[in-house]
Amino acid sequence: QTLNTEETAAKEYVQEVYNTVVKRNPNETEFHQAVKEILDSLVPIVARHPKYRQLGVLERLVEPERLVTFRVPWVDDQGVVRVNRGFRVQYNSSIGPYKGGLRFHPSVNASIIKFLGFEQTFKNSLTGQAIGGGKGGSDFDPKGKSDGEIMRFTQSFMTELYKYIGPDTDVPAGDIGVGAREIGFMFGQYKRIRSSFEAGVLTGKGIGYGGSLGRTEATGYGCVYFVNEMLNSRGLSFEGSTVVVSGSGNVAIYAIQKAAQLGARVVACSDSNGYIYDPKGIDLETVRRLKEVERKRISEYVTEHPHAVYTEGCQNIWSIPCDIALPCATQNEIDEESAKKLVAGGVQAIGEGANMPSTLEAIEVFLNANVLFGPAKAANAGGVAVSALEMSQNSMRYSWNFHEVDDKLHQIMKNIYRESVAAAEEYGHPGNLVVGANIAGFKKVADAMIAQGVI
Ligand code: GLU
Repeated sequence: QTLNTEETAAKEYVQEVYNTVVKRNPNETEFHQAVKEILDSLVPIVARHPKYRQLGVLERLVEPERLVTFRVPWVDDQGVVRVNRGFRVQYNSSIGPYKGGLRFHPSVNASIIKFLGFEQTFKNSLTGQAIGGGKGGSDFDPKGKSDGEIMRFTQSFMTELYKYIGPDTDVPAGDIGVGAREIGFMFGQYKRIRSSFEAGVLTGKGIGYGGSLGRTEATGYGCVYFVNEMLNSRGLSFEGSTVVVSGSGNVAIYAIQKAAQLGARVVACSDSNGYIYDPKGIDLETVRRLKEVERKRISEYVTEHPHAVYTEGCQNIWSIPCDIALPCATQNEIDEESAKKLVAGGVQAIGEGANMPSTLEAIEVFLNANVLFGPAKAANAGGVAVSALEMSQNSMRYSWNFHEVDDKLHQIMKNIYRESVAAAEEYGHPGNLVVGANIAGFKKVADAMIAQGVI
């Protein structure tokens, strides 16, 4: 009886908090979506522990601690002055300094940055490391820009951003459109402005100046390690499976590599223009060279591998029958219809390498079809987990070898899986890793917030 009353109260409370978010952040649909997914999962824990309601933890959590926006002026190769908008959300610092990537993509706006920062808070908590949640970026489009333009833009970006960051304050890293080249330029500019070599201010640095071995591979490898745990729980594995990966950036490339190492045949990947299908299995070296060295389109793959097929547009990638799908491109790339296609094609497991790649409706389809579903904040946490290992190495002025880092990553992914399974079980949704990951990530953050008073 009391539990029923508490459950009703929890549901009402969650709805109220959600309504406030919609009202306070009009038109920010991605942010609303991320908040809704998490709040709905939290009903059982709020019902069991009314303190989270009584102490206003949810309304505090949905409001970022701080959001800064700034002007980023730069000069292009033609001598024309251009202006972009920069963002940094310092979302939550209850368990450690703000931590999270920077995204350079024309779609970046306050809604995207806030959804990413909100997700990051729970993801970082799940890693078990002392890192709070943050995210940032710009609506700058790196596509087609020269090295000189990229450098001038990133230097201008850092000339504002440096005011807000620091090894114990806020530690950015990469995300879409921000890789080793951009991190290098930003680190150089920060060092120049501060006149101080603060290795721990950014992660994803080059190995020669404070970067960690294994950071580049971490998100993709971690995603495959996580999916492997899910598969094993049903007596399945990557060995002999057919895998579809979307994207061809840093996450996708290393997800493809690890899946192939574990015996899978990865038959497709994509970029924002379209996808390639290679029934013999994707030749990763071609993809890597095209995307990372030559910075060309994925469509070029078929000129070198004529038996492969290129299709313009990305939605149909999910019509390819597969056992395992790893969406590693961007948010909302799998909608309800695509999810149904995947289920019809016999998919057994989904591992979200990108952030929020499935819509709420798509998740519903997967869960109802009893497909193993590894939500982003658990499945792609390996990247930020190794970023935190990079911070540790920088503090120690020491570096671990590749195997040491990879072993730690593997262990962290197993722990995240185990904790998510346990939380789902404990709060009455056995096997539902969406609920499990959300509750497990929430609990540490919420308890730290309570311990620190009304902050
Ligand atoms: N951008 C990555 C993520 O979404 C990594 C962030 C980091 O390493 O700080 O988690």
